[in-house]
This record gives sequence, C-alpha cells and structure tokens, in this order.
Amino acid sequence: MTKQGQITKTIELENYGIKNAKVKYQLSAKELHDIAIEKGQGVEASSGALAVHTGEFTGRSPQDRFIVQDDITNNKVWWGNINIPFAPDKFEKLYNKVVDYLSNKELFVRDCYACADDNYKLNIRVINEYPWSNQFAYNMFLRPTAEELNGFDPEWLVVNAPGFMADPAEDGTRQHNFAILDFTRKIALIGGTGYTGEIKKGIFSALNFILPVFKNTLPMHCSANVGKDGDTAIFFGLSGTGKTTLSTDPNRSLIGDDEHGWTKENAIFNFEGGCYAKVINLSAENEPEIFEAIRAGAILENVVLDKNGHVAFEDASITQNTRVSYPLNHIENIQVPSIGKNPKNIFFLTADAFGVLPPISKLTPSQAAYHFISGYTAKVAGTEAGVIEPQPSFSACFGAPFMPLHPAKYAEMLSKKMKEAGVNVWLVNTGWTGGPYGVGTRMKLKYTRAMINAVLNGDLGLYTYDNYHIHSVFGVAQPRECPGVPTSVLSPRATWNNDEAYYKTAFKLTNAFRENFKKYEAFASEEIRRGGPQRYAF
Ligand code: ATP
Ligand code: MN
Repeated sequence: MTKQGQITKTIELENYGIKNAKVKYQLSAKELHDIAIEKGQGVEASSGALAVHTGEFTGRSPQDRFIVQDDITNNKVWWGNINIPFAPDKFEKLYNKVVDYLSNKELFVRDCYACADDNYKLNIRVINEYPWSNQFAYNMFLRPTAEELNGFDPEWLVVNAPGFMADPAEDGTRQHNFAILDFTRKIALIGGTGYTGEIKKGIFSALNFILPVFKNTLPMHCSANVGKDGDTAIFFGLSGTGKTTLSTDPNRSLIGDDEHGWTKENAIFNFEGGCYAKVINLSAENEPEIFEAIRAGAILENVVLDKNGHVAFEDASITQNTRVSYPLNHIENIQVPSIGKNPKNIFFLTADAFGVLPPISKLTPSQAAYHFISGYTAKVAGTEAGVIEPQPSFSACFGAPFMPLHPAKYAEMLSKKMKEAGVNVWLVNTGWTGGPYGVGTRMKLKYTRAMINAVLNGDLGLYTYDNYHIHSVFGVAQPRECPGVPTSVLSPRATWNNDEAYYKTAFKLTNAFRENFKKYEAFASEEIRRGGPQRYAF
C-alpha cells in the first residue's frame, strides 16, 4: 500500500487545457473525506463512512451517453440509441468549454488503473471537480504502489465536472448532462451529473470496446468469486438482480462485484479495485459482509441519516438506488490479486417480477446463448398506490448500455469460451415467487444462496431425468430437490396455486421474449434460436 499522503509529485494540467488550477494530487481517502465534510459536501455517518448527495442525478443517464464517431469507432461500434454518435469537432468544442470551466478551480487529481491482470492494465488519470468523486475513484479503480506512481504514464483521462452544464443547442448534447467517450483522444468527458457510477461505467464501456477489438478478451458485466478449491463462479445480471449481493459470500473469495474480463490465457480478472453496492433495505442480518464494509473510507450515496448519523436503509425518499462504494479490502474474504481461473459455473441472474421463471434451472448451451443475447430481467413499477404490472426489460449481454459492439460479437466470444471451458450455466430467478409483483413475494435471499451453494458444492444431484424436470414453457431443467430449499419453492407453478393464471402470465413473458428476439434473428443460428422458450400464446 502506498502512503498516498506523502506523494510529492506535482501534476501540471496545462497540457489538458486546464489553466491555473489548484491541484490536489493523489490525496488519501481520509484527506478527501475530511475535505468533503469541510466544504459541506458530505457528512460523516455513525459508521465512519462519508455520506454524500450526488445531486440531480442519482443514477446513470443512458440517453446522454455518447461515443465520438471517428476512424477507430466508425466501422466497429453498433450505433443506435444505446451508442449515440457524437461528432469529433463538437467534442473538441465541448471539451474546451469544460476545461475552461475547470480552470482556476481547486481540482482533485488521481492516477489509478483498471484491470487486475498486468497484461491488460489500463492506466487512468481522473480529474474531479469534487473531492468525494475523487475518493470514489480511489475506492473503485485499482491503486498503484508508490513505485508504480513514479513512472506513471496515464493512458486514459477521465474529466469529471458535475457542476458544468451543457447548452444542448450549442454543444450538441440532448440536455445539460453528458458522458462522452473519445477513443482517439482516450478521454471520458462527464459533465452536468454528479452520479459517480458514470465514472466507473465510462471506463467499463471503454474497456468493452478495447478488450475484444484489440486484445481478444471478453469483457463481461458480471461478478465473480472463487471457492476453496480454486473453482471460479461468475454471475451475470442486470442492475438489482444480485451480482454484488450473491458474489459477496463468506465462504468464497470475492474477485469482484461488477466488471470482469475473460482472457485468452483462460483467466478471469476484475477491472476494478472496489465494490459499488446497493444499500436499499440493507440489513446486518441478511448481508453482514456488505454491512460491515460501510465504515471509514466508504462513501454512502443518497441515503437518509437519522439525527445520530445512523443510516435509515429502508428510506427511499431520495432514490431507490442508494449506494455505497468501498475498496475491495473492506471485505474480509477476497482474492488477491483479483484473478481466477476459467469458471466452472456461470449464473445468469434475473429478477423476474412476473414470478414465472424457476428459482434455479440448468441451461443447455443453446439456451445459454439465447438467454445471454436476450438479457432478461423485469422492472417493477414505481411506488404509486395500487398494483401495477411489471414490465419485462431486455438488455443484450446483461449490459447493453455499456457494450459498444454488436451483442453478437460478445455472444460469439462467450459461446466459444463456454464450450472450451466446459462450464455449466444456470438461470437464477432472484425475483418473485408465489405470484407476480404485487401478489407474490421476492425470493428469500436465504433460498437463493442455498441454491447457488448447492450448485457450487455439487449437491444438486447428477443431471438426470430423475433429478430434473424440463419446464413445459421455458424448456429449462428445473431441479426437483435442493438442500436448504423447500421443494415447493423449486416449481414456480406450484407456488402460484393457480395453474391457469400461472400459464397465462408465463405466456405473456414468452411472447415478450419472442418480440425482443426478433432484432437478433437475422444473425442467430438455428442452434441459438432453439434455446428460446418452447411455448407461446397465440
Ligand atoms: P448493479 O449492477 O446495479 O450493481 P447488482 O446486480 O449488483 O446491481 P445487487 O446490488 O446485488 O444488484 O442488488 C440486489 C438487491 O436485491 C439487493 O438489495 C438485495 O438485498 C436484494 N435481494 C432481495 N432478494 C434477493 C435474492 N433472492 N437474491 C439476490 N438479491 C436479493
Ligand atoms: Mn452491483
């Protein structure tokens, strides 16, 4: 570990067009924590963590995420409403406005890197307007040693100016906030939003282009951990499906909770040096490791504190998306460095609010490819009174907003790697049971953990007809029994107590799958198409 406070190196920002800035370089987490409080930008919670409000934005803004259309990206990026093109000359103008805005200010600068595997290391310099955003970068990216800092050569630059408001008419943005990637200049330019997630997902998106295009490595929106025998498991899933929760397991060493690469050398490595956990309804009883990680050094975002500085975890009055960031070493059982071998098991997590998918099922290779391309989860309606229908939500590769290439590119790489490694793939419904959202309940975390443990410990029984039932609608293989889980919970139909309602809802979902898959049919092989649900409504 570096004594960050003793860094004496001085950093010039004139090269970046930032004039006369008062640079605070490589401050320690403690220093940044104290400065944020001094400036009235945060308070200390009773746990010792810093608590901040990120402002207008408490989540990412996918509609304001652009990629500069240049010689590097033009023929490779899958352009559309996910990867929105931005003209190079517009970028140049906007960048100049942002650095003008940052000139003459006190700025927080940090050198860090992404990718725990040395062969893939990406050096990053982060320039922040706010101290707590810079502490976020300390928590989330990898931290160079003093020696590494000496000769540090930053490759990518993150310029983060939450207080800068764009003028859409003049700047070519949609509204006042933006997150723009420029692959020629190697800059992530973020303005008008203080949501820290934009910083980590900016670099994630850059790596999701760089790794497959230049390094023959598959980037994945997944968490990962390793068992005592060195067996790696990875967990794909969209936001809120349980990547962070389920990878944080006292019996397995955590590799990372969100972003990983799968290399040609058959290794899984974390891109990051920290975790970014949801804390809505967090309890010490259900999630002790994450609860304990919330201490000095951690940053709580958009939580409500009582007068004693205790977090009211159930309070969603600012947002449902309350968060905490902390360095990986706030978790006791971690893998150092954050690298594992080829995975033995892959879990696709989905929070099915229709309550029709089995809580756990085994997928064939075609089903795995089909579900990876579909990337299904469900969104539950807001907190308005009355029961409102859940909405299916499909996001290719379980992370479309961060994937600059066509989903087929990632899907092909994954299928190939899965075949070579001979992995088992499981679909896990961490969502509803006993009926849809509004009628049923969320699957007990205790049961989901028991099902995952049963897979990882080999307790599910051999893959035979006696042990598994093929679901008549989804075609997936549902275990008949699982240690630690009541048998009735394993069959979603049984938990409904109303076959007609169950099948009607299941068909509603399979129709949504079919509708969504239409856009991928042109490139999907017969084998992949066969992996879809077996029955649909007419
Ligand atoms: P993001 O990509 O936004 O970081 P994530 O996939 O990491 O999302 P988590 O932070 O793990 O998602 O969120 C899962 C949430 O759902 C947690 O608040 C967790 O407590 C809750 N939860 C409730 N029941 C379950 C369950 N059965 N399995 C997993 N999580 C559950
Ligand atoms: Mn997460």
